[in-house]
Amino acid sequence: EIILKRVKEMANDITKDYAGRRPLFIAILNGSFMFASDLFKHLNIEAELCFIKLASYKGLKSSGNVVTSIGLEDDLFGKEVIIVEDIVDTGKTLHNFLPKLLHQQPRSMRIATLLHKSAATEFPLTLDYVGFDIPNKFVVGYGLDYDGLGRNFKEIYQLV
Ligand code: 5GP
Repeated sequence: EIILKRVKEMANDITKDYAGRRPLFIAILNGSFMFASDLFKHLNIEAELCFIKLASYKGLKSSGNVVTSIGLEDDLFGKEVIIVEDIVDTGKTLHNFLPKLLHQQPRSMRIATLLHKSAATEFPLTLDYVGFDIPNKFVVGYGLDYDGLGRNFKEIYQLV
């Protein structure tokens, strides 16, 4: 209930901010699929959605290397882009990936993340829509996994 209430609030904020602008949501797989789905269904504006995949996450620590994105077919030139992430930890993933998107000259680019471990964030990033600021602990559920499992939990749990 708490998660959904917050996601609806985020959808309302985005609806207000993007009225008449038709944003393109780029959701980063796998972890963001559930958040992206709930966020998208509560928008009250015309919007597009695509999913892309970046580096996979292994074990309990954020992996260092970010590979190029898979699945980005849209041309971003002139688009109003909103990146949808499940969680921002060190910020390295998005910090490394955003320049690649900006290279395509979108009209604007914002970030919506469900979770933010602000105490762990080392790389400069502006997060425009944040669901919850959480402690620097590993979490699973609501799309987030531990070694592939736990994504189907409706709630979010701290693992250790
Ligand atoms: P960053 O590059 O910001 O350090 O890490 C971002 C990515 O690491 C997220 O998209 C997610 O895949 C993974 N990640 C970071 N913290 C957690 C966590 O607590 N739980 C899970 N399941 N994944 C995490």
